[in-house]
Amino acid sequence: MSDLSVEITAPNGLKYTQPTGLFINNEFVKGNGGTITSIDPATEKEIATIHAASAEDVDRAVRAAHAALKDPSWKKLAATDRGRLIARLADLVDEKRETLATIDSWDNGKPYSVALNEDLGEVSLALRYYSGWADKTYGQTINTAPEKFAYTLRQPIGVVGQIIPWNYPLSMAAWKLGPALACGNTVVLKPAEQTPLSALVLGQLIKEAGFPPGVVNVVNGYGREAGAALVEHPLVDKIAFTGSTATGRQIMKMASATLKNITLETGGKSPLLVFSDCDLEQAVKWSHAGIMSNQGQICTATSRIFVQKEIYNTFIEKYKEAVKSTSKVGNQWDESTFQGPQVTRAQYERILSYIDIGKSEGATVLTGGGPYREEGGNTDFNKGFFIAPTVFTNVNDSMRICKEEIFGPVVVIASFETEEEVIARANDTTYGLGASVFTRDIQRGHRVAAEIEAGMVWINSSQDSDPRVPFGGVKQSGIGRELGEAGLEAYSQIKAVHVNMGTIL
Ligand code: NAD
Repeated sequence: MSDLSVEITAPNGLKYTQPTGLFINNEFVKGNGGTITSIDPATEKEIATIHAASAEDVDRAVRAAHAALKDPSWKKLAATDRGRLIARLADLVDEKRETLATIDSWDNGKPYSVALNEDLGEVSLALRYYSGWADKTYGQTINTAPEKFAYTLRQPIGVVGQIIPWNYPLSMAAWKLGPALACGNTVVLKPAEQTPLSALVLGQLIKEAGFPPGVVNVVNGYGREAGAALVEHPLVDKIAFTGSTATGRQIMKMASATLKNITLETGGKSPLLVFSDCDLEQAVKWSHAGIMSNQGQICTATSRIFVQKEIYNTFIEKYKEAVKSTSKVGNQWDESTFQGPQVTRAQYERILSYIDIGKSEGATVLTGGGPYREEGGNTDFNKGFFIAPTVFTNVNDSMRICKEEIFGPVVVIASFETEEEVIARANDTTYGLGASVFTRDIQRGHRVAAEIEAGMVWINSSQDSDPRVPFGGVKQSGIGRELGEAGLEAYSQIKAVHVNMGTIL
């Protein structure tokens, strides 16, 4: 493959130029790690074939980032001007939002309206938020002795390798690029091989915004080759990863060889607790959105619902209605679509195998229970990775469908009696990413929020996320925090400078 771009017309009629190379030093170049062909998960047709990076290509990108780190055009750039570049990138993202949303929707399978209004909104908000932080990251002055004091400098960590997943391709890139650039680092970003296209267009915008060459490099490639080469590279100072817990574990092992700074955002099996004193309509609405949005491909998905015994049967009936009325399955472009196809055949089959496991474990299928194959509408359901939104009842906590992350539109609903009991059951997991609690009792809401072992708790909602608020997990759901002021900690390091103003030893 030698061409470094291809002209494309998307199913919604949008025409654009898709870069296909690796983005290194502000140029698109050939990769030597083979190719990646992107597939439309609704039709199983090819979208585009792009270059993948070999370990040598990753080395080239890392060296570019390493040189950029030391180049005065970045190193000596005033912090305010660094912020201005990030804000300019946010402006360009806004200008190109239809194109970017089209690519992510096509490549990932999420409804176009979601990509446009939710993902792209989040991308520009995160970049804008961190553009404001660029000149507000200060150190401290510390009095130590009568003639001595110390101060701290907050400095960039260096070259940052960012490995991102496919469920929110551009949001994940923005969450990681914003704070890394605000703190003055340089970046090698590796998108997921399932959704490699939009990050290349982002590369174009990064150049257009005026970032010096090498400050941001985008290398598509396979996890085991390009991802591993990035983690193992001695000139990479930090790895920020979002993806599966299994890969997170491998990354931690690989990073230990060079003792790299790491932040990991991994999987979850987040509980949602519905107390009998809640606003039931709200609880149903949010608990549906909390797992069924984004095709269930959300790391914080509230995939384990616990409902207090007194309202369990009513809740189940209402939940079934909510699935029927809201979870309209269809292709990305149909405006009425709530749930598109799963991202790849591999994910589709993995979810179906979990549905089979649930059945064989003896759980009751309340809705769905297999592929979505209804005729009609604009979608050929004989093709594509469509799953019927699936609700299991009659479950017990030891079933695999109650313990393992499924990462699809599959939820389990169990009942409980007391607050103490449900907290213990909610916490009986190796994960600790998100949790929701529905109650009208203000004291109970805060009490449960404090007791739940999770990085984030929603009271009377689910899945709220905001660039101003820290995001991350406890237990095996991750290490460190992204977003908010906490996100700056992940991308800067503190140097202490001791000053002697006197003559006494
Ligand atoms: P994954 O963890 O394998 O991939 C995520 C990223 O890591 C990709 O960019 C991939 O190329 C890279 N990667 C994979 N192996 C690597 C390695 N050895 N070294 C360095 N980088 C590597 O996730 P997946 O296989 O795409 O999805 C599998 C499961 O992961 C899902 O079913 C879901 O449970 C979970 N997942 C979680 C999130 C999340 O947001 N937490 C996102 C996507 C997937």
